[in-house]
Order: sequence, then C-alpha cells, then structure tokens
Amino acid sequence: MGDTNANAVSQWVERLSALHRSLMRKFATEEGLQFVHVEILQYLSICNRYSDTTQAISDYLGQTKGSISQSLGLLEEKGLIKRVQDKIDKRVFHLSLLSKGASVTKRLLESIHLDGSEKLEPQLKNLLTSIQKKNGLKGFGTCLSCRFNQSPGKNSFVCGLTKEKLSVDEVKKICKEHEAS
Ligand code: SF4
Repeated sequence: MGDTNANAVSQWVERLSALHRSLMRKFATEEGLQFVHVEILQYLSICNRYSDTTQAISDYLGQTKGSISQSLGLLEEKGLIKRVQDKIDKRVFHLSLLSKGASVTKRLLESIHLDGSEKLEPQLKNLLTSIQKKNGLKGFGTCLSCRFNQSPGKNSFVCGLTKEKLSVDEVKKICKEHEAS
C-alpha cells in the first residue's frame, strides 16, 4: 500500500514538475528570453541574502558557474538584475532583481495561473521537506523549517548559523544554508 501511494505521489510530482517547466518555457519564449533566464529571475525573487550569489544559483539550478555567469551578464545588459559587491568580503557579489526583472517574475506568476489556496502550500512544503530529509539533501528551504532558526520573540527572528537578525519577510525566503529541523 505504501509503495503504491509513493508511486502515485511520484507520478503527480513528475507531472506537475513537467507541466510547470513547460509553462515557464512558453513564457520565456513570449518574453524573448531563454528558459534559464526566467529560472534565474524566479530564483532571485525567492532567495534570501545568503543565497543571492552566482554559486548559489549554480547549485540551485544544477548548472555550471560558467554558464550561469554568461546568463547573468545578459540579464544585467537587459537591465533586469544588478550586481553589488559585498561590503565585507570583496570577492562576493550579491545579485538582485531590478524593477524590470521583478515585473517579469510577476507576469510569470500571472501567466501560469497557479492555485494560491492556503491549504495547498503547507502540504507542498511538507512534501518537499520530507523528500529532502529522506534523501539527505540540504539547502534551499525557508527559515521556518530550519534547525538554525531562532525566534526570541513574536515576529523576531535570528539565524543561529550567522547570528544575524532576520526580518519577517526574510524568513519566508529560501536559503542555501538551510538544514531541516
Ligand atoms: S535560519 Fe536557516 S534558513 Fe534561515 S537564514 Fe539561517 S541558515 Fe538560512
């Protein structure tokens, strides 16, 4: 019974993933972009400040740093993203969406017509966390399910790994350092 259910869940995940990618690909073509460009813009709209680097994008998308760097150059030329040097570690550059890039991600969401029901989100999050845990995968979850998350008070968050304060909005973003609690 467990195996039958796992097989059914696996098929739904595969179909959803394939459908989502196909809709993203169609959207990218309509916008005159490549699929990977839309993936990068989408990632930058949901990642936190520890995860907005070329290396993190490369890890998330499973592509080489060289190919991601090329795409980033093009997105910068098009005025969709910007790159800012880290104030402390001068070797690190942080990437973020410019308003034109944010508009692309907004149009992407509208074009895909996803069900925004509040019931669905925690279920999908639990499914993702469970798959990550069972496969020993780390990274790219949100603070709320991370073992480093510390909440000293209501709406007050501190990352136990970096010892830095996080805002209410930041804890909803995905992080490359995430480890499931
Ligand atoms: S609490 Fe976890 S997910 Fe949040 S910033 Fe720290 S390491 Fe990242």
